[in-house]
Amino acid sequence: MSGNPQLAHHDLTARPDARLLLRRHGLRCTPGRLNILSLLSAPELHLSITEACERLVHIGDVVHPTTVYRTLEVLTETGLTHAVHGPGATRYGITGEPHHHTVCQRCGHISALASAHLTEAVGRIEELTGLRPDTSGSLLVYGRCADCGDDL
Ligand SMILES: [Zn+2]
Ligand SMILES: [Zn+2]
Repeated sequence: MSGNPQLAHHDLTARPDARLLLRRHGLRCTPGRLNILSLLSAPELHLSITEACERLVHIGDVVHPTTVYRTLEVLTETGLTHAVHGPGATRYGITGEPHHHTVCQRCGHISALASAHLTEAVGRIEELTGLRPDTSGSLLVYGRCADCGDDL
């Protein structure tokens, strides 16, 4: 594991082993893939290509956005990561525990919201409207993030 103390502030037991994940999905363990998977190993983190590049630079890995894009395409195709198309740039998160997404309509920030928190609400939504989450199991909840507040 490319140990990265800066990213290690999350529950370590919940972190999937990037090498194992790649092998299980029939992908070679290239440094680029490992770095991106490590970067996204915090389940609530969903990053755009630009944000991913910024963070990779921060840990000393200078990569071209196109490379990051291609890597994320491959990881998303195999289901290791998933893309969320909110307002603004597409953001990518790691696929693990089932979660919904909250989307800030102003800055595009996306957070994960564990599905377990919304089981009842999802049940009610279906009851009232017939709508069920799609195959990704994810609802998009739009609003303003804490940083953006209420101002227009
Ligand atoms: Zn997600
Ligand atoms: Zn925001």
